[in-house]
Amino acid sequence: MNSQLTISCELFPPKNASGMQKMQSAVAELQTRHPAYFSCTYGAGGSTRDNTFTTVDWLLGQSIEVAPHLTCIANNQTDTLRILRRYQEQGIRRIVALRGDRPADSLPASHELTHANELVSLIRSHFANHFHIEVAAYPEMHPESSHLVADLDHFQHKIEAGANGAITQYFYSVAAYNHFLEACAKRRINVPIVPGIMPIVNYANLQRFSARCGAELPRWLCRQLDSYGDDQASIRAFGADFVAQFCTRLLAEGAPGLHFYTLNQAKPTLAIWDRLAT
Ligand code: FAD
Repeated sequence: MNSQLTISCELFPPKNASGMQKMQSAVAELQTRHPAYFSCTYGAGGSTRDNTFTTVDWLLGQSIEVAPHLTCIANNQTDTLRILRRYQEQGIRRIVALRGDRPADSLPASHELTHANELVSLIRSHFANHFHIEVAAYPEMHPESSHLVADLDHFQHKIEAGANGAITQYFYSVAAYNHFLEACAKRRINVPIVPGIMPIVNYANLQRFSARCGAELPRWLCRQLDSYGDDQASIRAFGADFVAQFCTRLLAEGAPGLHFYTLNQAKPTLAIWDRLAT
């Protein structure tokens, strides 16, 4: 595989010691393929910021390049800057800057940064070019958006605020990615836009995540996965073949890399990665 490609792996911060152990074993297995970096989510799925710090500290202790995610919706500016200073002092050079999901109840009174472009501007104004900043992109549109053009305008604002690149929400349509890249090219957005890749492991979970984050599961794919019933081994085998072919097509179309949503498991990601190398 082309060594210029940026292949990265996303982790979530484990909530307890056994989860930490599983994540550490997964990282050790994934490290054998030398990903460019590991990213670690922040505040997603109810995890606390301390869980993220613990995971980031462990990765740094293993001399692994890490890109912490940072969300702005539930933090005030002072706290956000404090976290960024901590990361700067630790020698971290890459951040994934996000708004974060709106809390189900109301926003905290301290909430000051409303959208991810404001977080990117804040980082650039206080840290100049210290951090390489990735932002989120949505080839199938962000689920809160009602209009594709407005969604693209908002994506453009994040790039204009100083983001160096983007990682997409997962999707399973090459056409959606190409269409998004073409729309970006028309706007002279030319940062690398790396597809986020979700391995297919557990169909019920995938359906639930997809409904929540607005990722479309093609009808034919659902019917194929339905046909395996409870046969998890067949779902995984089919999923690895299908997602590997999908990645191969994305790379052939010019994707600058792949960002694997590993869910803290090595095998589903490696099953795809190893099929790409052959
Ligand atoms: P934004 O870019 O701010 O966009 C959010 C919505 O607001 C969009 O609909 C956009 O069109 C609209 N919008 C943007 N600017 C404006 C404006 N000025 N006026 C009006 N509308 C506007 N969540 C977590 O909690 N923790 C994580 O670690 C995490 N990691 C992620 C990693 C990746 C690669 C991706 C793709 C998503 C991740 N998420 C994470 C989920 C993400 O936080 C949600 O999708 C969130 O709803 C939007 O975040 P954003 O950074 O894309 O927001």
